[in-house]
Amino acid sequence: MAKIDDYTPIVGESVVEDLKLIALHLRGKQILNVNSTAVGGGVAEILNRMVPLLRELGLDVRWDVIRGGEEFFDVTKKFHNALHGGRADIGEKDLEIFMETSRKNVEEMDTSSDIVFIHDPQPIVLVQKRMNNKWIWRCHIDLSDPEQKVWRFLKEFVVQYDAAVFSAPAFSRKLPVRQFLISPSIDPLSDKNRELPQEVIDGVLNKYGIPKDKPIITQISRFDRLKDPLGVITTYRLVKKNIACRLLLAGGTATDDPEGQKVFEEVMESANGDPDIHILSMSQNDLEINALQRASTVIIQKSLKEGFGLTVSEALWKSKPVVASNVGGIPLQIKHKHSGLLCYSAEGAAFAVKQFLSSPDYARKIGENGREHVRNNFLITRHLRDYLLLFLSLYHRENIVYL
Ligand code: UDP
Repeated sequence: MAKIDDYTPIVGESVVEDLKLIALHLRGKQILNVNSTAVGGGVAEILNRMVPLLRELGLDVRWDVIRGGEEFFDVTKKFHNALHGGRADIGEKDLEIFMETSRKNVEEMDTSSDIVFIHDPQPIVLVQKRMNNKWIWRCHIDLSDPEQKVWRFLKEFVVQYDAAVFSAPAFSRKLPVRQFLISPSIDPLSDKNRELPQEVIDGVLNKYGIPKDKPIITQISRFDRLKDPLGVITTYRLVKKNIACRLLLAGGTATDDPEGQKVFEEVMESANGDPDIHILSMSQNDLEINALQRASTVIIQKSLKEGFGLTVSEALWKSKPVVASNVGGIPLQIKHKHSGLLCYSAEGAAFAVKQFLSSPDYARKIGENGREHVRNNFLITRHLRDYLLLFLSLYHRENIVYL
């Protein structure tokens, strides 16, 4: 696993030295991260790399996962959809289920660390256990237009934290607690993102029976309606009218997402046996995801709603031309016609994909810009620095401005 000094050739010496200096002020501080799944989805992806690096920098960091049954995760998935602005079919029974499991976690989890860092709504109630320590709520969701009933319910807990962290300015809410804007990041040295030899990439294509005879359009995402996999198939069919291509849809399911299997079946049905559509239900295999992204000609992220959309930065870091919806954190990563193309519909996405496929030089240039944009803004070193400064700021409460 990469050490902090290994990042120097990628981001420069001063960035790494700054991290070590800031971390000196936090040496030995106990930080507990809590989320709801150890695998699957962006939060687990980030914590997997963030935790060992913070430890190497001298902080005493733990990562714990709340426990919950099927019913609990059905409710939290409803919360997730509602917070993203969807219709909420949430009744008193759902709230009871949520509170009952939360109470069990409150009883069982040791939250006595100096700083407790809670990720997303699922473990939000743990704050009821706060003592004289610091509590941060890190929201990875686009909260710009939440369903009000669910938001009002969760807000009662948010206001008990010392600080709330959002991924993009538009996601923040009016709150009587300090708010921080911190974008997520990718790790350029993880198996998901590191350079790969061509033989490895070809080996993965062979394993999944994907020929290299035609350009490959790819979306890597959990099978979730908000990722719009059916819209991606429509896009591919529109492109295919003019340009021969293959579509690769690869995704796993997260343990906290009960809808995955159903959406996967809908996608299989929509593909209707088309031999040029490759649907892979992946286990969590970072190296293979990396290889599939690198094997792709164009990468799509046609989400209807998105938190940040790590898959976009992953693709841009690999210098891929990306076509993605103008939602959530995606426009932070894609500056239209500079580091990718933004789209608003399947028709728009198909038009953009065709532009890339028919102008390889343009696609290459945009891909290179994308890589530099990620280097400057969305690598884990920047994220580490933001988190260290956030932790420090909890002990310095002067000059607070509430929004
Ligand atoms: N991912 C993966 N395997 C899959 C599907 C997704 O490893 O089958 C990874 C993907 O590469 C990315 C993360 O899961 O690192 C998804 O993060 P994103 O922010 O794009 O979406 P989320 O799932 O958190 O909504």
